[in-house]
Amino acid sequence: MASIVRLYVEHALGEGQTVPLTRDHAHYLFGVMRLAVGAEVQLFNGVDGEFLAEVIEASKRGGVLRCGAQSKPLQLPPDLWLLFAPIKKARTDFIVEKAAEMGAVRICPVQTAFTNSERIRQDRLQAHAVEAAEQCGGTFVPEVAEMQKLGAVLDHWPEGRRLMFCDEDQVGAGLELGGDPGPWAILIGPEGGFSPEERARLKALPFTTTVSLGPRILRADTAAVAALTIWQTALGDWR
Ligand code: SAM
Repeated sequence: MASIVRLYVEHALGEGQTVPLTRDHAHYLFGVMRLAVGAEVQLFNGVDGEFLAEVIEASKRGGVLRCGAQSKPLQLPPDLWLLFAPIKKARTDFIVEKAAEMGAVRICPVQTAFTNSERIRQDRLQAHAVEAAEQCGGTFVPEVAEMQKLGAVLDHWPEGRRLMFCDEDQVGAGLELGGDPGPWAILIGPEGGFSPEERARLKALPFTTTVSLGPRILRADTAAVAALTIWQTALGDWR
């Protein structure tokens, strides 16, 4: 049996609720996936959970779905942010996709001293987070923030949030995160790593826990996946 199509929509959902389709969604459902009136689709909007919905109108440019019963409640990930310095486009896309799949609540590109790219397309990265949520069965889509300078992010750090600073210079350092499940953020540097000044500031902050991700230097995208895995296993919703 073909798997059922899952769509993220920006519309309220609830039993009996009708949901008009955007042109893009209509093209995807009826042009690409060849669905017709009567077909079933799973809908979620990041707020109301997931609903099974039936196609009640279908055309090339639009259509309408009607929600049946809720098929999943909203499941929020733990209060974990991923801060990372954008790298090459495909690898940055990978980091956003994996963070959405693995359960980050917010994804924050940060510009560090040695960040490779000075610009990101926030809208494109947000679309990757939506696609990842559609594909992995999640009912929540993490927000992808606009890029900010790391220094500014640290200047306005929210009270009570801890920072797991992944430092490639800490080979041999432990991986002790303590037992406090949140809120937390993970920080991954760019290809060039952190500058001595950044490292000194990060280590002096009272909310920082510096960790090593093993004896080898990982690429930033590998490091992001490794750090998310470690945090989710130790303190998150994989326990
Ligand atoms: N250019 C740096 C060097 O050669 O030392 C390597 C930077 S690494 C490619 C990118 C980022 O991944 C680092 O800034 C760090 O956040 C993380 N990372 C990679 N390997 C790590 C390790 N073994 N322990 C902790 N963090 C690591």
